[in-house]
Amino acid sequence: MNKLTKDCWSVFTEGCKEIRVDYRYYAAELNAGSSFLSEEQLYVNPVNCFIFSKEQFSESIELELNIPPFWQVATSLRANDTTLMADNFDELADSPFICSAHLQHDEYKVNETLFHLWFNGESKPDWDRLKTDFSAFTKAQIEKFGEFPVSEYHFLFQILPYKAYHGVEHCKSTVIALGPSYDVFGDEYKELLGVSSHELYHTWNVKAIRPIEMHPYDFTKENYSQLGFICEGVTTYMGDLFLLKSGVFTLEQYFNELNGQLQKHFDNFGRFNYSVAESSFDTWLDGYVPGAPGRKVSIYTEGCLLAFVTDVRILRATNNHYGLDEVMKRLYYDFALAGKGVSESDYKEVLENISGTSFDDLFNDYIHGTRPYESILLESFEYLGLEMEHVPAKSYAAGKLGFKSIKSNARVTAIYPGSPAFLGGLMLDDEVISVNGYKLNADLDKWLSYFADTEKNLVVQRAGRHIALRLPEVQRYFYSDYTVKVQDKPIGSQKKAFEAWKK
Ligand SMILES: [Zn+2]
Repeated sequence: MNKLTKDCWSVFTEGCKEIRVDYRYYAAELNAGSSFLSEEQLYVNPVNCFIFSKEQFSESIELELNIPPFWQVATSLRANDTTLMADNFDELADSPFICSAHLQHDEYKVNETLFHLWFNGESKPDWDRLKTDFSAFTKAQIEKFGEFPVSEYHFLFQILPYKAYHGVEHCKSTVIALGPSYDVFGDEYKELLGVSSHELYHTWNVKAIRPIEMHPYDFTKENYSQLGFICEGVTTYMGDLFLLKSGVFTLEQYFNELNGQLQKHFDNFGRFNYSVAESSFDTWLDGYVPGAPGRKVSIYTEGCLLAFVTDVRILRATNNHYGLDEVMKRLYYDFALAGKGVSESDYKEVLENISGTSFDDLFNDYIHGTRPYESILLESFEYLGLEMEHVPAKSYAAGKLGFKSIKSNARVTAIYPGSPAFLGGLMLDDEVISVNGYKLNADLDKWLSYFADTEKNLVVQRAGRHIALRLPEVQRYFYSDYTVKVQDKPIGSQKKAFEAWKK
């Protein structure tokens, strides 16, 4: 046997008809896309750890589970007791499963489609509330598309005792990791709804409507694509918008999510450096973490804001008749169901056909360019009778000194170029220990505002050393807080557009 690449072996069969491969996999990571084994559960994302041969890729597969007799199995795979069955490797790779003695299950139906809700881990599901809310946003999404792409669907929740927020989409299921347990049906419930609506929307957008570069998916290498602003951007926008459209979110809850995206957008100076299309291509490198400061943008945030602008432009061009959901519907029927991947020009062509207007500037200046979004955002808000306000950040450190930090340990997470923090030599990951000689106790901002009129001398801990810094005075504001609200007196046409947008 020869190892050819990091994940590929060649076997000299020399005439033998059958080969058996025994191997072990270290399953010790617990998030929405990993595999994990403990005395409580066997959780597998097959794409992590199952091998395949090119020759047998399309053959049906049987998977025999060796688990305690009283354990249940949550999965979208067909099951016969402890045997799971997949039509081919592609289905197996895309079908995670959780085997556990503590699964909690319920279900709901929309039209003829059955939706399963599985909870694993310490959790007290509020079934009535879950089924009411999930039925509402599921129904709204299906109504816009006209049909659901698969006959049965499973939400697999891994509820964790610590803070977690992560979801991964699959063809007939999703795994969602959330925590801490005690907040999931309290403060974190809006997150549960947000990620669930997002992952459900992926059943159409990504699992069916697929970027051409990922059609078919190649499991042996990175599948580069510039279309993250469609896959994740449109999904982020639509996931939240469907919570509003279905009445699960109030307008205030929806605006909170939108404010979060605006805040992330304006806080990230990477927007002057790297386009969303370029950032999408690099998702394989550091797409899910901040990475080098100011280098790149998020396909989720920028994609969501561009999807909003696109939606409003279509509404405006069609006298509020069509929105972005109509574009996604056409892509589903004309591309996904026809077995075709979607390229950027396909997407642009459908946008232009439905709206009857050119999207050249959006693609050249904003998707592939780094032109500031302010004007197109304001124009979109104005059309709907909304307005975006920005005021100096409430936090003294962010507004006056130009840095953000984690409250509990004062670890620096963001620095505004040209601000006192920047000029004074503060670095990301520095932990502020004291202000003017006073040791901090999760009260950095209080001490900084207390010394508002005085020179500010900080001691920070950096790479194992204590370092003294002096922050110079700069008379202006740096970070701002962004919020969207309904205008005081929207006019008739704005009210009409607003109603059409959230219908
Ligand atoms: Zn997503």
